[in-house]
Amino acid sequence: MTSLSTTFADLAPTPRMPTVFVGHGSPMNAIEDTTYSRGWRKLGDSLPAPKAILVVSAHWMTRGTTLVHVKDQPRTIYDFGGFPPELYAQKYAAPGAPDVAAATMDLMRNHHVEADEKWGLDHGAWSVLIQMFPEAQFPVFQLSIDLTQSPAQHFALAKDLKALRERGVLILASGNLVHNLYAMSWDGKPYDWAVEFDSRLSDFIAKGDYQSVVDAPRLGRLMQYAHPSIEHFLPILYPLAVADKADTLSFFNEGIDLGSVSMKSFILS
Ligand code: ZN
Repeated sequence: MTSLSTTFADLAPTPRMPTVFVGHGSPMNAIEDTTYSRGWRKLGDSLPAPKAILVVSAHWMTRGTTLVHVKDQPRTIYDFGGFPPELYAQKYAAPGAPDVAAATMDLMRNHHVEADEKWGLDHGAWSVLIQMFPEAQFPVFQLSIDLTQSPAQHFALAKDLKALRERGVLILASGNLVHNLYAMSWDGKPYDWAVEFDSRLSDFIAKGDYQSVVDAPRLGRLMQYAHPSIEHFLPILYPLAVADKADTLSFFNEGIDLGSVSMKSFILS
């Protein structure tokens, strides 16, 4: 069935899917063999085959609404500048998932959610997926992040997505644990504040203290340095919101790139 009238009840139950947060960093990881891109390939090999992948990327920002992409063939979006032609020649030709997208909107009916036909896959999604699943065989759709919503509101909204894990949907969030492009240093030595924020957030996550992650903006100056803008932080909340005590946490791709971009990622399964 492929119809925008698909409801959550129309989706068949499956074993529970893991959920993942990926630190994406430079778009060049899409085409380069790096420790990070290797980590993504390994991740793709280790996951059960999803029925669909729901990506929450830092790079799809909306205001006053949450959009769900419902087209059956999402385009590849080159939302970056100044990279080599080889990167712009990449295409991630995964099918969309209009039926699962519609079922997702059904699950989120208590929030302000709308169908979108204009977006596609931004680099927060495809630069990672092209390494995880190079054959692009699994249907993918994105959910936007509404910048007018607080972290607590994002966490509440994301909780409503949890049931998708029991319907074969891989909820894949893409941002960075620390993301300050103003402070990038080419010698690559991590800033103290980057190391500190990365480690405090990791501790909260490891302890299952998700409320402290939601409250991270209260860390004040440390948060300001780690996330001068909030869009790369918000995706972290999505896998946490759909997790519970039955999940086991593992971190991977640990490392701070260019001094101020944490690539640390985690899986809850
Ligand atoms: Zn980014």
